Amino acid sequence: EFYVRRWLIEEKLVKKILKPVAADTHKGRQGFGLVVGGSRAYSGAPLLSAKGCLASGVGGVYLAVPEELFKPLAGKVPEIILRGVPAASGQLAPEGFFMLNELLSKVKAAVIGPGMGELSESKEAYLSFLENCPLPLVIDADGLNNLAGHLAVLKKRTAPTVLTPHLGEMARLLGISIEEVKGRREELGKEFAREYNVYLVLKSETTLIAVPAGEVWYLAGGNPLLAKAGSGDVLSGLIAGFLTQGYKPGEAAILGVYFHGRAGELALEEQAENGFFISDIFSYLNKAFRTLG
Ligand code: AMP
Ligand code: MG
Repeated sequence: EFYVRRWLIEEKLVKKILKPVAADTHKGRQGFGLVVGGSRAYSGAPLLSAKGCLASGVGGVYLAVPEELFKPLAGKVPEIILRGVPAASGQLAPEGFFMLNELLSKVKAAVIGPGMGELSESKEAYLSFLENCPLPLVIDADGLNNLAGHLAVLKKRTAPTVLTPHLGEMARLLGISIEEVKGRREELGKEFAREYNVYLVLKSETTLIAVPAGEVWYLAGGNPLLAKAGSGDVLSGLIAGFLTQGYKPGEAAILGVYFHGRAGELALEEQAENGFFISDIFSYLNKAFRTLG
C-alpha cells in the first residue's frame, strides 16, 4: 500500500471518513466558519461560499464583506451572520483585514477569496493576514490571484492551508500556460503541494487533490451542470465547513469535492443543464448527504 499513491474518490472512502453527528450536538460543537470575500463588482460569490459552508453541517457561518455590501446582502440568507468591514474603492481595505482578527476568535476555519477582486492598496494587508491567520484556511478564487508572485507566504503559515484553483488560476499561480498545467497537472500538483506544504484541489472536470505527503486523489467527473459561475465558490465553502467541524485538511478536501460532484450528478438526473442555477445545488447537496450508502 505504501507504493500506491494515486486513489479514486469513491463513496466507500467517503463513508470511512465521514463521522456521524451526535444527537446531542449543539451549534458550538459543530463550530462556526468564516467566509471572507466580496467586492463592489462581485457580491454573489461570497454569499454562495457562505451557503456552501452552512450546507456542510457547521453550527453557523460568519460572512465578512466590504461594508458597502452589507445593505445589499443583509437578510438574503437569514442564517448567515453578516459583518461589514472597512472598504476602499469597493474592496476590503487594509483596516478591514486587521479587523478580521476579531472574528477569528469566534471561528474554527475560514475561506478567503470568493469575489474579493484584485487588491491593490490592500495587497500587503492581505498577505500578512494569510501569513498570520492561525486557523485552517481555504484560499480560493481572487484569494489565489492575489497570491500569485507571493507564494513564499504559504511556507510561513502555521495552520493547514487548502488551495482550490481551477486550471486558469493554477496557471497564474505558477506563471505558466493553461495548456502546460493541463498536460502535467499531476506532476505539477504534487510538486506544488510538497513545496508549499498545502493541500491542493486542482479543479476541472476531473478534479485532483494533491497533499504534502505525496498522495493524489481523483474525482471521476464530467458534469456540465457544475461548469457555471458560482460553482467553485460553493465548493470552497463546503471544504471550509468540513475543516470547521474538525476534519483534517485532506479529509475536508475529499469530502467537499465528493459531495459537490455528487450533488451535480443528482441534479443532472432531474435537471437540464440549460436553465440550471447554481443556487439550486443546495437541495441536491442535501440529497447527496441523505442518500450516502
Ligand atoms: P470555479 O471555476 O471556481 O467556479 O469552479 C468550478 C467547479 O465546478 C469546480 O469544482 C470544478 O471541478 C467543477 N466543474 C467545472 N466544470 C466541470 C465539468 N465539466 N464536470 C465536472 N465538474 C466541473
Ligand atoms: Mg472559482
